[in-house]
Amino acid sequence: MNEATGSGGSYDYDLIVIGGGSGGLSASKAAAKYGKKVLVLDCVSPTPLGTTWGLGGTCVNVGCIPKKLMHQAAILHQSLEDARKFGWTFDEKVSHDWTTMKDAINNYIGSLNWGYRVALRDNGVTYENAHGEFIGPHKIKATNKKGKETVHTAETFIIATGERPRYLGVPGDKEYCITSDDLFSLPYSPGKTLVVGASYVALECAGFLAGLGLDVTVMVRSILLRGFDQQMANLAGDYLENHGVKIIRRFVPTKIEQIEAGTPGKLKVTARSTEGSENIEGEYNTVLLAVGRDSCTKNIGLEKVGVKIVEKSGKIPVNDVEQTNVPYIYAIGDILEGKLQLTPVAVQAGRLLAARLYGGSSVKCDYINVPTTVFTPLEYGACGYSEESALEKYGAENVETYHSYFWPLEWTIPSRDNNKCYAKVICNKQDQNRVIGFHVLGPNAGEITQGFGAAIKCGMTKEQLDSTIGIHPACAEIFTTLSVTKQSGQSVQQSGC
Ligand code: FAD
Ligand code: NDP
Repeated sequence: MNEATGSGGSYDYDLIVIGGGSGGLSASKAAAKYGKKVLVLDCVSPTPLGTTWGLGGTCVNVGCIPKKLMHQAAILHQSLEDARKFGWTFDEKVSHDWTTMKDAINNYIGSLNWGYRVALRDNGVTYENAHGEFIGPHKIKATNKKGKETVHTAETFIIATGERPRYLGVPGDKEYCITSDDLFSLPYSPGKTLVVGASYVALECAGFLAGLGLDVTVMVRSILLRGFDQQMANLAGDYLENHGVKIIRRFVPTKIEQIEAGTPGKLKVTARSTEGSENIEGEYNTVLLAVGRDSCTKNIGLEKVGVKIVEKSGKIPVNDVEQTNVPYIYAIGDILEGKLQLTPVAVQAGRLLAARLYGGSSVKCDYINVPTTVFTPLEYGACGYSEESALEKYGAENVETYHSYFWPLEWTIPSRDNNKCYAKVICNKQDQNRVIGFHVLGPNAGEITQGFGAAIKCGMTKEQLDSTIGIHPACAEIFTTLSVTKQSGQSVQQSGC
């Protein structure tokens, strides 16, 4: 008799994955390809306002995908303005219909949800739309929406339950505010919006809402984009402000009250200064909270199987093969302590974990030099060290920073935004001037950063970057001709406009 299963030794499954998001789906499909018997449990708890969605996790339903598509909707607005200068004529009044955009995006997401179900079926993975909770060693309880419970056992488990938006804990927040979990399927235009927070989610949402023509204010507690290169973060913030987003600095909301119900209604927000005793009030149609996310590790029975979490963050510490302190339980994705919270990171970790568990591989997920992009109206792409972290690690005497503003050719005819796009490369003088930090603020920064991310992974030096021949005319070519160092103090402003 096997103590773990209570059933004579064999488990129901080789692998049970809790969470069908970026990481969970990747790991489960890969494990099934190695011939393993796999069960995926995925279940979405509705937001306080009742919003819910299908299979695929945060990225597909309430993250990367709808965010990037709304960012694109905003870019089209700017392109319409530019188009007139290139000779296009159309009615003076340009308007945007939120519902048309929202429906188109949500229909596309529906097709992705369906595609994921089909992919699981085609790979022979069993999927249950149910909440998973450990009830004992190697044993999990799955509870579906109707409350029906089933129990399953497995030899190995992967926890990939992701995170959900945090609330402020002030009067009126859960009753009247929305989060990114509600925004992308909001049935009406949010109208005049206050965005609370100053990181990826806050600035991206503020950017596309303003780009769609809405009146948008961001309330910042401390700094923009904590953890990122602060020169770049502030340049991205300046661009937001120059393009109509109001920024209230060093205030936090203390109370949200409803003045008028409706879609949208009207809310009164009271906020207090983080530096003094000043209080301010403002009226908005919508308050979007983007103040961070909590890990979904609290109601999944981790205490029953002895998996440790870091009390303060709620995250799960793992070793370099994503194994928790309980040897048969692994964890991947956003719930990991001290790792990057990005879709491709979760996907890669899941795929490599399955290959190590079942494919004889020993390749580990490399969390260093992961490229990323913040999709603000002027996109900010980065890979490697920020300037401040490079200086701190290597010392000012060992760091050389090359930089330049640049003006996309496409922006010259509309005569807009010269000296707003910016390129910066940080090199380690002690190590053959190796590129240890890459930063770009400009259109399509995500596309640019991806390729340079590969080069940095290969250990590119400044000399190799300089010997790379540019593609003309393209924004990225600026990186092949960077000659002015910050240390020289020379101006990098582009003349003419
Ligand atoms: P998730 O994708 O969140 O999946 C977890 C799944 O598990 C969910 O479906 C959840 O409902 C389910 N679950 C939780 N608990 C249980 C349980 N007990 N039983 C069953 N199921 C459960 N990343 C990028 O790389 N690029 C971007 O542009 C980007 N944009 C983003 C924009 C926004 C607004 C947000 C919020 C995030 C964005 N991200 C982006 C981050 C990205 O979405 C996450 O890093 C990624 O989804 C993490 O994958 P995961 O598998 O860890 O978790
Ligand atoms: P973060 O945890 O990165 O940032 C939270 C923000 O909210 C900070 O600006 C923080 O300010 C602020 N904040 C926290 N508490 C309060 C409060 N009580 N009052 C006011 N402000 C507050 O969270 P995000 O939700 O933005 O992003 C989560 C993760 O999702 C990111 O780390 C990223 O990995 C991923 N993501 C990736 C994207 C991409 O790849 N493009 C896009 C969106 C998300 P302070 O600095 O003062 O603490």
